[in-house]
Amino acid sequence: MIMFAAIAAASAAFAAPMLIPAPREMSVTGGRVALAAAAAPNVEVVASIPPEGYELSITTNAVTIRHSDDAGLFYAKATLAQLRADATEATIPCLEIKDAPAFRWRGVHLDVARHFFGKEAVKRLLDQMALYKYNVFHWHLTDDQAWTFEVPGYRRLVRDGAFYADGDIREIVEYARARHISVVPEIDFPGHFGAVRRAYPQFACPGGKPMCVGNEEAVAFAENVLDRACELFPGVPIHIGGDECSRKFWGKCPKCLELVKREGLSGVEEIQPWLTRRLAKRLSAKGRRAVGWDEIAVGPKKRDGAASGAISAMFPKTALVMGRWPDALATLANAGCEVVRCDYPHCYFDYSQAVPGDRHGYFGKLKTPLEKVYAFNPFDGIRTAARANVLGGECCNWTERTADASALDWKLWPRALALSEILWTNPDPAKRDFAEFSARAAEHRRRLVREHVNCAPLK
Ligand SMILES: [Zn+2]
Repeated sequence: MIMFAAIAAASAAFAAPMLIPAPREMSVTGGRVALAAAAAPNVEVVASIPPEGYELSITTNAVTIRHSDDAGLFYAKATLAQLRADATEATIPCLEIKDAPAFRWRGVHLDVARHFFGKEAVKRLLDQMALYKYNVFHWHLTDDQAWTFEVPGYRRLVRDGAFYADGDIREIVEYARARHISVVPEIDFPGHFGAVRRAYPQFACPGGKPMCVGNEEAVAFAENVLDRACELFPGVPIHIGGDECSRKFWGKCPKCLELVKREGLSGVEEIQPWLTRRLAKRLSAKGRRAVGWDEIAVGPKKRDGAASGAISAMFPKTALVMGRWPDALATLANAGCEVVRCDYPHCYFDYSQAVPGDRHGYFGKLKTPLEKVYAFNPFDGIRTAARANVLGGECCNWTERTADASALDWKLWPRALALSEILWTNPDPAKRDFAEFSARAAEHRRRLVREHVNCAPLK
């Protein structure tokens, strides 16, 4: 019995701690140190450590963090916090960690137009993101159902429903900045335009859904909105949407047909690329960069599962493209464009978790179980030489069926644990072990539940 106890104690001393995302390199060196040492680590700046990276050395004598930037120090402390949560008998294991993210864009998207999430719910999400080293909050602020921020000169946009005051937005941006999270606002043009159409019908084509791009007053509106977004949001990327816009109304609209003629476009299918080019230019004049869904570059898919189109000659290649179709993203990245991947269905967290008792389903039977997320390959279809064009990935949280913070918790967790590890630690699915990850995820689920996060079960 004594011998078994000794073996158990030794293996506990050398067992790897339950970290998510797992560090890129970690060796457990044996021995343990009192938890109190982790509360006051030595901190050294070492210029050769990569951006956001850190080294953490825990010996029986000292806890030392080395980093080159503030984000690296922040992430070292996040790792230490997880070690403290993992502590047994007020000690943590001695170890050496060398860590830095695989990708610089590790995003969580939130749609606040289908269901509104107030300031406190957004801050709660930012706190959760920071625990797992996410660094981009993609804020989908407008859609058919609602417009959620104020634009001077266009008061009717927010006349019904909830919205963020300018002060709320500034407070959230600052709250995110303190957690090394940048906020990327999304204002959706020229489709998903219903909220604008109800307030200002003249900005949509007659009898139609999309923005009337042939109406110069509507284009000026879009530019004024982007100018306002640049005032409210200090980050470089500004998302201009671009998804799911039907061309059929443009083909019946005299102003849009006149635009095609005046600008020498090949047809109505070039109206969206023309608008994208103009909005991207407006943003770049202010030192910002346009981000859009893949349709800004390759047009809409004919149907789900069909091959994506070729890259439009008018597409401004300096824009950043985000999207769900692996073939479109691979085409773009292989052609030298930078992309952020939200592959479907791996990154679609609005879909059901496919666990027993899941009350938070999506339309139909669409499912993204945890194991599916953990199988996501951010380099799917991308040539080795073009891999640097993949800036990272995001989970999409469209909220048609996500009514409040508790439902959002359920949709995010534990799936966001899996995505954080893919984007920080390990982009290669062949080098992942789902069973090993699941053991760590189960422990993190216990911690999240303890903190009143409505985390779904693993299976
Ligand atoms: Zn029109």
